[in-house]
Amino acid sequence: MPAAPRAAPERPTRRVGEDANARGRLTVTNAGTESDRDKGPSTAAMRRRRDKKMGRNQQAAPKLMREVIIPEAITVAELANRMAERSVTVIKMLMAQGTMATINDVIDADTAELIAAELGHTVKRVSDADVEEGLYDIPADDKAEDLTDRAPVVTIMGHVDHGKTSLLDAIREANVVSGEAGGITQHIGAYRVEKNGNKITFLDTPGHEAFTAMRARGAQATDIAVLVVAADDGVMPQTIESIKHAKAAGVPIIVAINKMDKPEANPTRVRTELLQHEVFVESMGGDVLDVEVSAKTRAGLDKLLETILLQAEVLELRVARDGRAEGLVIEAKLDRGRGAVATVLVQRGTLAIGDILVAGTEFARVRALINDKGEQVKEAGPSIPVEVLGFTGVPSAGDRFSVVETEARARRSHRISSARHP
Ligand code: GDP
Repeated sequence: MPAAPRAAPERPTRRVGEDANARGRLTVTNAGTESDRDKGPSTAAMRRRRDKKMGRNQQAAPKLMREVIIPEAITVAELANRMAERSVTVIKMLMAQGTMATINDVIDADTAELIAAELGHTVKRVSDADVEEGLYDIPADDKAEDLTDRAPVVTIMGHVDHGKTSLLDAIREANVVSGEAGGITQHIGAYRVEKNGNKITFLDTPGHEAFTAMRARGAQATDIAVLVVAADDGVMPQTIESIKHAKAAGVPIIVAINKMDKPEANPTRVRTELLQHEVFVESMGGDVLDVEVSAKTRAGLDKLLETILLQAEVLELRVARDGRAEGLVIEAKLDRGRGAVATVLVQRGTLAIGDILVAGTEFARVRALINDKGEQVKEAGPSIPVEVLGFTGVPSAGDRFSVVETEARARRSHRISSARHP
């Protein structure tokens, strides 16, 4: 009969490629719209299969239960790695919960913990607090001999038009060794300069917007705030705001009294006005360091750098250089040709090519690292800003990043962290 063959195409046959596409588009939402009858038995069957499989494994060899360390966010592959389970097991369990994930997807700690627990592993959560502590304070049990000095990270703050951008440019240009790649520098959102053999990292997004945005997310990139006050204008509303932000963050202030080349410059007035906002500079009997500068003539810039290093010495900025890198995203964009690019500031450990890092909800296998001079580098240690190529999507400024261990390194760090937290 001719009618019968016509009835079949009601559900059109698909080519393999189409099928794959359809699967790729399957989201939590449309997975939910499938009838429960479709979903129910398959979930149960999956559980049965899993139970059966685990049973079989137990017969073959006793299943190894592990203590699994779970950070704030972890990729499916990494979680499977740490549990010594197959990624597909994790994916299936997620599917049973109604979440479609691939091995590169990042899942949150709660979900990861549920999965690990269901598979019989014990779980150790690395809380936000641990991470945060790790970033700025030396964990009490980090061995002193493992710590190295790191460069101070400096933000320039102050009222509009008081010369923040000019000062950042002047410091940067003064430090470009003449003839060095034609003096061409790469703007990646931060740069490093050297003074008397010591390095200083400047975040070159002036103003407190970036600073506050990061702070609002609990992230702190800055060790020292340079408060720029124009000597011909004095303390203005955004000067006061900057002081408040620095104080709230517990970041020491260095006052740069700028535009000293102007005939109407009055540094004493600046110092006096600052008193009303509880910024007591040394000449007024306080302990806040101040430097008179001119971004235009570059007078006082050396003294400013020396003062920053002096302040840094007081702060005793020491951190572990070895181990997996942690830090902050300070800038990120979608670059034509290069894809998603983010400048990160390493705050602890060393970031290297090939590392897998998680930043917010994004993920990268580090393909290349580019420093502030536009040079490709193999790795970046503490206080070093680098552009990271290899992100799957654009992270947000202020996102914390953390290198996710490969299995071999996970075992090593597991030993280290067990030793740290006996
Ligand atoms: P920002 O808004 O704080 O980033 O200020 P800018 O760096 O854009 O500077 C504002 C204006 O002040 C510009 O016209 C600069 O050329 C000028 N300026 C900055 N620093 C100095 C300085 O040391 N001396 C003089 N005379 N002008 C300056």
